[in-house]
Amino acid sequence: MRKKIVKLGIMGGTFNPIHQGHLVAAEIIRDEFKLNEVLFVPSGKPPHKDNNEIASPRHRWMMTLLATATNDYFSTSSIEIERKGESYTYDTIVSLKKIYGEEVECYFITGADAIAQISTWHKVENLPSLAKFIAASRPGYKLDMEKIEPSFRKSTYLIEIPALAISSTEIRKRVKEGKTIKYLVPEVVEKYIYKNNLYR
Ligand code: NAP
Repeated sequence: MRKKIVKLGIMGGTFNPIHQGHLVAAEIIRDEFKLNEVLFVPSGKPPHKDNNEIASPRHRWMMTLLATATNDYFSTSSIEIERKGESYTYDTIVSLKKIYGEEVECYFITGADAIAQISTWHKVENLPSLAKFIAASRPGYKLDMEKIEPSFRKSTYLIEIPALAISSTEIRKRVKEGKTIKYLVPEVVEKYIYKNNLYR
């Protein structure tokens, strides 16, 4: 039987690839916000993105599944990779509320750079009533709350995660240049990247 989830973290991202920074961020936020579960949701077709450098949804979902397997509080959803068209956060939260129950309190977690653009998101006016938003930032990144859509200011939290000094862009670049990515990603993800010849 599914355990009762009162507070659900929804970790949204492209995860191209997932790295230790994402995992540390999710764990720190789970602990601070007392979340019952953090569900990682790799985007299928990320909105606002040129898809050239992006590994296939299936590879990104597999790496996310492998990386989250050892944390009892973490799980991974294929909801966005199975849905046709753009991966809109609005659609994802609405679908997850149907699965977990309308009363579940949702916390959508993603990078602060992405949250800074929230005013351009699909059905933005409906988002504040559906979830709270947690912007995870890299050290030194300043999210100007004044620039955030006023309706979000009360329901948006900013949290600095030092481990987010690691970035997916840097990992892809290192793989391309033949440099080590050991300890930047879980070992199982490192092996998966090489086995499937990703980011070459
Ligand atoms: P992105 O441009 O790939 O990432 C923006 C920044 O945030 C990068 O520095 C990235 O670092 C970081 N980041 C991404 N996901 C993160 C996470 N879960 N935790 C911590 N840092 C994270 O952003 P994106 O992946 O396209 O979008 C992020 C989320 O917002 C996705 O779930 C996406 O579907 C959603 N979104 C929705 C809409 C919409 O509904 N219209 C529009 C845009 C985005 P790394 O590269 O190291 O991950």
